[in-house]
Amino acid sequence: MTATETATAAGTEDATVRTLCEQLLAELPPASTDPVTFLGRQFDLGLAWVHFPEGQGGLGLSPRLQRTVNDILFPAGAPVAAYRNVIGHGMGAPTLVTHGTEAQKQRYLRPLFTGEEVWCQLFSEPGAGSDVAGLSTRAVRDGDEWIVNGQKVWTTLAHLAKWGMLIARTDPEQPKHKGMTYFVVDMEAPGVEVRPLYQITGEAEFNEVYFTDVRIPDEERLGEVGEGWRATLTTLMNERVAIGGGIPRKGTGFIAEAVKAYQARGDHDRARRDELMSLWIRAEVLRLTNIRASQLRVLGDPGPEGSIGKAMSADLNKDITAFTVGLLGPEGMLKPDGYPMARPEHAMQFSNTQQAFLRTRANSIEGGTTEIAKNILGERVLGLPGDVRNDKDVPWSQVPRS
Ligand SMILES: Cc1cc2nc3c(=O)[nH]c(=O)nc-3n(C[C@H](O)[C@H](O)[C@H](O)COP(=O)(O)OP(=O)(O)OC[C@H]3O[C@@H](n4cnc5c(N)ncnc54)[C@H](O)[C@@H]3O)c2cc1C
Repeated sequence: MTATETATAAGTEDATVRTLCEQLLAELPPASTDPVTFLGRQFDLGLAWVHFPEGQGGLGLSPRLQRTVNDILFPAGAPVAAYRNVIGHGMGAPTLVTHGTEAQKQRYLRPLFTGEEVWCQLFSEPGAGSDVAGLSTRAVRDGDEWIVNGQKVWTTLAHLAKWGMLIARTDPEQPKHKGMTYFVVDMEAPGVEVRPLYQITGEAEFNEVYFTDVRIPDEERLGEVGEGWRATLTTLMNERVAIGGGIPRKGTGFIAEAVKAYQARGDHDRARRDELMSLWIRAEVLRLTNIRASQLRVLGDPGPEGSIGKAMSADLNKDITAFTVGLLGPEGMLKPDGYPMARPEHAMQFSNTQQAFLRTRANSIEGGTTEIAKNILGERVLGLPGDVRNDKDVPWSQVPRS
């Protein structure tokens, strides 16, 4: 294709997406439509994830055009699918579309997008976090089913989830990355027990999950037996983007709160203004970096550059919210909503600055720690020598563990 033809095609695609958005808003005005109906129609029109194939919530177009969709639909008051099912939307869907069978895509994607079926991610275990490939949860084949036993931890929104993305060890005699299999597990199946874990915010967004003789039909396996690591990488790479790859409008989000708090304080001393400006610049640099990454992205695995946004946003969110709480003075030490000991309906939503300050402490841990993100960048982007991995080629059963 010549440059002119490429530009014409891009213009046509943009026009198609805009027309479909207008059609959706005309057919179902958000103010008078329930969110499930609206999101269902959005999915059917291919505006859920425009880069997904047709019939699977997409139109097979550039992921860049999803911004166009969002820029039209959100200001018009449309419901935000990602808020209703954060793990399913950001990580479950790309994993399904990359590794799922046709039947799995047809079964899971639409109710995932509408939020009728919430998803959770069952990767971390008490003995396997950064080194998630070392996990111990076992799945043993029994005819057309698998029997699962083990424990997962830090499972965000497991208390609301219908489906879980589960990785389990199916062959302990293989090295750790080779003996794992990926399943979609019904969180309402007998033998699944979900217990809350409370965070410093006083909320339990996450849980520990116990599996006792849980039966999973083989058709709910995602990918080949023993090939679970491939699908796991797709989930993890998309997780980094889902957490750190956000593209807010310029000057919005945490940095807007900081500016507001600075203006409200009245005494505009220069040291604080300097601090605020450097935070504002970091926020803008991150936003632009994420725009660039999103334009380069194709369907499937986002690639190691997702770790840039993940690591940068963790530090930035912590620094901005600390700055804002500092501006509040003694009031910053009081959390307006107290410590409710609640099990929230959403993860990572902030009702006040103090809560945001506390919750963002976890940003450098969740979705892979900042140290691990830096290891990935060092090895896969900068080409530096690798981390020490002396258990990589040893059968999992022979690796010493406590
Ligand atoms: C709010 C929140 C939500 C979460 N939600 C989920 C979820 O829904 N599903 C899920 O499966 N998990 C979830 N997690 C778990 C998260 O993925 C793990 O906490 C994370 O991967 C770190 O694992 P760990 O806690 O076992 O720490 P460890 O792996 O034990 O790490 C401890 C420390 O050692 C450092 N470290 C470890 N290995 C290395 C290395 N090779 N090089 C340098 N430093 C290293 C780490 O950076 C860290 O500072 C969540 C965590 C949080 C905080």
